[in-house]
Amino acid sequence: MKKFNPIEIISLLRQMLLNARFPVALHEPEFKGNELQYLKECLETSYVSSVGKFVDQFELELAQFTGAKYAVATSNGTSALHIAFKLAGVEPNDEVLVPTLTFVATSNAISYCNATPHFVDSDGICFGVNPAKLSDYLKEVAEVQNNVCINQLTGKTIRALCVVHVFGHPVDLDPIVEICERYHIKLVEDAAEALGSYYKGEHVGHRGIAGILSFNGNKIITTGGGGAILTDDEAISKQAKHLTTTARLRHAFYYEHDQVGYNYRLPNINAALGCAQLEQLPHLLDAKRKLAENYSQAFRGVDGVTFIREQGYAKSNYWLNTIMLDKEFTSERDKLLELLNDNKIGVRPVWNLMHTLPMYHNCPRMNLSIAEDLAARLINIPSSAFLGDEL
Ligand SMILES: *Cc1c(COP(=O)(O)O)cnc(C)c1O
Repeated sequence: MKKFNPIEIISLLRQMLLNARFPVALHEPEFKGNELQYLKECLETSYVSSVGKFVDQFELELAQFTGAKYAVATSNGTSALHIAFKLAGVEPNDEVLVPTLTFVATSNAISYCNATPHFVDSDGICFGVNPAKLSDYLKEVAEVQNNVCINQLTGKTIRALCVVHVFGHPVDLDPIVEICERYHIKLVEDAAEALGSYYKGEHVGHRGIAGILSFNGNKIITTGGGGAILTDDEAISKQAKHLTTTARLRHAFYYEHDQVGYNYRLPNINAALGCAQLEQLPHLLDAKRKLAENYSQAFRGVDGVTFIREQGYAKSNYWLNTIMLDKEFTSERDKLLELLNDNKIGVRPVWNLMHTLPMYHNCPRMNLSIAEDLAARLINIPSSAFLGDEL
């Protein structure tokens, strides 16, 4: 008979975090490279804003690192998502399939296009979109007419699917790409949490029409605030750059704009921070992998919880380490969260599911039983790279 012992979990974490400063945050950035030097260069040359060499350099290096043909830097991951959906052809009144288990930005960006999020269920193992369940659902509700996917229940066009690589764990992209092709749905990848994550050896974020990254302060590298659009399509990359920089036509001094654009550019000073952080990324990934391996070992002997590991097809960046309570101990979650936070160990449950939020309560959705089950049992545990350094 398994028993659940929160004290055992606290002492295990305390032991693993022996060298950490308390309180231990869930995820902290670290600046141990050329950050100060590059920032200083911005200040000394006065290139802190919309012009400067670091933006181009950051975009180039992001493309190199991810293997995407093009990267366009943006003001944050949310603005990158907004533009990615626009470039996927999402129009007012369309529906976009999106997991209910995600950060609110994914759904909000769909709303910014005056489109409707259509919530899909999660995979019980990688926490992203569950391809088998999605395929069965679309068989039931969707029909392709003139190369357009129609939701027969609402009569609306299902224009795109946004997958999310939750906590850095890649979704099973191959069957998802196949579903998108079968139903004439554009694929967008929310890889905000997945810089440094690979699916079958390929960096995530550029399988669909576009993917996005975030460089918010809690992500694996940070630019303060920032994001990027990844794509292998030259025309899409050009449109992404154009739309995120006020849709201004190239001219030395005339201000001409050919459509309603956005001021979603990444300032040079943020890009400078990004260039320095990218230099550190291989080291950060190593340290995070070490931390995850140690957690995995440590939790092996603990009753009632499982440490979540990457899938066979994937290499995860282990952005946020995650444990899952056994089903029978679901009701223990809140007590454990409180106890750990009281002990100054930063842990948190996953996001409130999107379909439970007031603004998305009435959106179309499939059966969401797996996401509901996961949301009740998952806990994110401290994941800063420096915790792995010291192991
Ligand atoms: C962080 C995050 C975003 C948004 O990124 P910001 O840079 O904070 O706007 C979008 N989706 C997911 C899954 C994220 O974790």
